[in-house]
Amino acid sequence: MAYDRNNVFARILRGELPCSKVYEDEHTLAFRDINPLAPTHILVIPKGEYVSVDDFSQNASEAEIVSLMRAIGHVARAEGVVDDGYRILANHGVAARQEVPHFHIHIFGGRDLGPMLTRR
Ligand code: 5GP
Repeated sequence: MAYDRNNVFARILRGELPCSKVYEDEHTLAFRDINPLAPTHILVIPKGEYVSVDDFSQNASEAEIVSLMRAIGHVARAEGVVDDGYRILANHGVAARQEVPHFHIHIFGGRDLGPMLTRR
């Protein structure tokens, strides 16, 4: 799947749309989800143009991958959700119902998050 340069996170990265930024470094940006599903709901994204985790895991540099993983830990500690627990999640593709075609990892915390998935 080709990268869509008009997706909403691309527009945030270009400064065309605002975001509530919580962390930024050379390769990674983290900001609050516009429709939070938990008291802490933060999106961690690479600044590079990657459609999803499949694209990122194949094509990102080691520096970009390290930056993203380090950012997740940093943001979780800064949010104070480490002791009580938190969840990270990345949706890829149709079955996972990925909505925004720019790779992002959700960080959820601040409440009991329930089971990982509900059974059908
Ligand atoms: P996905 O289903 O692709 O894993 O999740 C996309 C997430 O992006 C959703 O949780 C949605 O609320 C969030 N989102 C969509 N548009 C915007 C936006 O313009 N700003 C922010 N901060 N989050 C957004």
